Amino acid sequence: MTLDVTHDPAARSWVPGADAHPDFPVQNLPLCLFSAEDDRPRAGIAIAERVADLPALLAAGLLAGVDEAVGELLFDRLNELLAAGREVRVALRRALFALLTDPAAEPRAAPHLRPLAAVRLHLPCEIGDYTDFYAGIHHAARVGALFRPDNPLLPNYRHVPIGYHGRASSVVVSGTPVRRPAGQLPGAEGPRFGPSERLDHELELGIWVGPGNALGQPIPVGEAADHIAGFALVNDWSARDIQAWEYQPLGPFLAKSFATTVSPFIVTPEALAPFRCPAMPRTPRDPQPLPYLLDPADQQAGGLDLTVEAWLESAAMRAAGLPPLRISQGSARDLWWTPAQMVAHHASNGCNLRPGDLLGTGTISGEAPGAAGSLLELTEGGKRPLALPTGETRTFLEAGDRLSLTARAERAGLRLGFGPCAGEVVG
Ligand code: MN
Repeated sequence: MTLDVTHDPAARSWVPGADAHPDFPVQNLPLCLFSAEDDRPRAGIAIAERVADLPALLAAGLLAGVDEAVGELLFDRLNELLAAGREVRVALRRALFALLTDPAAEPRAAPHLRPLAAVRLHLPCEIGDYTDFYAGIHHAARVGALFRPDNPLLPNYRHVPIGYHGRASSVVVSGTPVRRPAGQLPGAEGPRFGPSERLDHELELGIWVGPGNALGQPIPVGEAADHIAGFALVNDWSARDIQAWEYQPLGPFLAKSFATTVSPFIVTPEALAPFRCPAMPRTPRDPQPLPYLLDPADQQAGGLDLTVEAWLESAAMRAAGLPPLRISQGSARDLWWTPAQMVAHHASNGCNLRPGDLLGTGTISGEAPGAAGSLLELTEGGKRPLALPTGETRTFLEAGDRLSLTARAERAGLRLGFGPCAGEVVG
């Protein structure tokens, strides 16, 4: 992926606050689906604290180089826009960048920018399928040690991308409350049915599928990046007590399918081009990926250099006016598989991916204890509670807790973020 004028760290925008914005400077330009008042949901692009109304800008003739036919892809859901692939994304990015950096365009363009605070952000796509991988190797090792002290990483882990088919119907956009699930809970006298007592978060990246593949036609790893339309944050909420009892032999089921939160902004591969890094290094003892997962360009630059964080705020902290507490910080460099490897593996048996499908990377944890992307790890299975600034403690999530995930990239004077992926626990 080549860098162009849209990655210039010196570029300035006339939109108020854009140049110092931590998430949405003019070099980011993530896609979203929004509505204002009773309007049809429509495609937008975030810039600072505004969202640019793409159909309105296109109709006003302000998106130079964008085909008018793109106007038909901009309403109700972004599946069709993502399906259109890189060429359309790049045309939109270049047009928006030119418009938002040209002071002379302000009088005509500004009326089509709305305050983010005044619009409703929707789930960007109708998600046909949601799949969750398990590529955070330190998470897999630490959780494995809790469940199987003698055998933390199973022998297949370093060879095959592990995943499970999640539930698409319960994927919700950031800000949606998350109801505590009830389920079968294990106990010394046998299982009982009740509200989960070990509700947890999982800090993950999401991968939005763009162009799909036909059933029976695998995606070569060297072409897999062409099928990725963008990235987001995903919280794969997990009920650890339900999970521990139900997960053998077929994997997670009701412990995960009650809710999955995704951030509303689709950060494009073009925006992330300056923040690519090599795939996670293998030691000489580690197996090399099998040929269908091995592509030199992907090995060299298929990883993502993103800092990811989880923040917790209890109802009492909110009432006392205290800011959220950062409970972990990790890096997407700690993913054992690249996004392209996950896509190629998913399609390697001929399974068809479709535009708007969502893939989760798996929980991102670092090797250090404070870098863990779940409470299960941070509290060692509930044995070491976290202290909150109110004097409260947490092993798992309680009613009124608000859990928020963030991701940011920073390199050579460029900085961007993903916007929050948040949910408040109800019940
Ligand atoms: Mn997960």
